[in-house]
Amino acid sequence: MLTLHNITHNITHNTMHKILYNFLQQPFTRFFLLFLSVLLGEITTAKAQTIDTTLLRKHIAFLASDSLRGRGTSTPDEKRAAEYLADYFRRLGLQAKGDKGSYFQMFPLIKKNDVLPDSNRMAMNVLGFLDNGKPHTIVIGAHFDHLGLGYDGSSLDTEPKGKIHNGADDNASGVAGMLELARLYATNGVKEPYNVVFMGFSGEELGLLGSKHFGENPTLPLETIHCMVNLDMIGRFNETKKELVVGGTGTNPMFEPLVKNIAARSFANEFALALDSSGVGPSDHTSFYLKKIPVLFFFTGVHTDYHKPSDDIERINIQGEAKVLRYIAQILDSLQASPKLAFQQTRVKQQTGHSYKVSLGVMPAYSYAGKGLKIDAVTAGRPAAKAGIQDGDIIITIGTTEITDIQAYMQVLGKLKAGETVPVRVLRDDKPINLSVTL
Ligand SMILES: [Zn+2]
Repeated sequence: MLTLHNITHNITHNTMHKILYNFLQQPFTRFFLLFLSVLLGEITTAKAQTIDTTLLRKHIAFLASDSLRGRGTSTPDEKRAAEYLADYFRRLGLQAKGDKGSYFQMFPLIKKNDVLPDSNRMAMNVLGFLDNGKPHTIVIGAHFDHLGLGYDGSSLDTEPKGKIHNGADDNASGVAGMLELARLYATNGVKEPYNVVFMGFSGEELGLLGSKHFGENPTLPLETIHCMVNLDMIGRFNETKKELVVGGTGTNPMFEPLVKNIAARSFANEFALALDSSGVGPSDHTSFYLKKIPVLFFFTGVHTDYHKPSDDIERINIQGEAKVLRYIAQILDSLQASPKLAFQQTRVKQQTGHSYKVSLGVMPAYSYAGKGLKIDAVTAGRPAAKAGIQDGDIIITIGTTEITDIQAYMQVLGKLKAGETVPVRVLRDDKPINLSVTL
């Protein structure tokens, strides 16, 4: 998953905060869809989905092993991970959906920094297609790149350089989940009412590069894509908090009632769902949303090992991940063949065409629903840390602007300049503290 300051997608919406809930104007349509989803939920619960936890663990163990050295984009380690995915797709009999009849889709790295000095280096996505002979296709995607040896600037370790960032949760967990769903759908003897394409993305940590490349150079017509399901960090399900973030629920009118309904009926009290309606988020589903494709994003929440060398397999909750995957499989099983899922635009989180020149160096708590911007982790050596902002603080004002939520924060960030010093007010243990941040 991306840290916030790396999101540089150009969003070309004309109007800010434009909510197109067309269905609200059509109460009957909405009621009918709700009724349909309740009915479907009932039918599909009978169809048991078996997730193999041994296989899940095996995939994570390989991808997050020291020998893969953190799967840095455009390294031989990334290539080994990509070959692992392609091999698995081949064994499952999935069709190659990359370039020229191969499983790989190559893309150039245009980003130049101290990690990637050569602007002509290539990275690769991996694509396997389950052809059920149907008109519409569901994308199940997960990024397989991570921070490598910590040179790319997004590690949260104090001295990251040279340390292997295994990324067991981020995102060996999502890739393992994607491979396990591929096995499930390829071997269940059922022809689903849609095709499924499984995608491993690279370059995610550098700015959603692989998924963006697919969006610009699709190997199957984008008009045939029913929806995109993104798995990014699903390995740290917390059995006490039970938090499961589901993003993109506003991108189709049926998604919110559907995910709520299946969680309530088949997983009573097992998930504390944190729904985020927005199609724009810190991972690859954003690239599909921007191509007007409905998206769902699953994420078990941030933790103290996020973007640190300590994100290791020992801390993965395999049973928890299996539960999340069973939930996703039930959601997918309840989707109908036709009509093609309608796309619905959601609230815009960023300003038009803006890429942020400044950042505080904080990881926001995306699932925090209260007032202000809650911070999960502060990056050492960056402006927020230097100003004395700590993990768990809630930013309530920057300059004279009240920070009500993450969107307000992004807007203020867009107006600040490097070198500027601004007063920042935070809540720490419910007490306000005034600090001064130099960007
Ligand atoms: Zn990440």
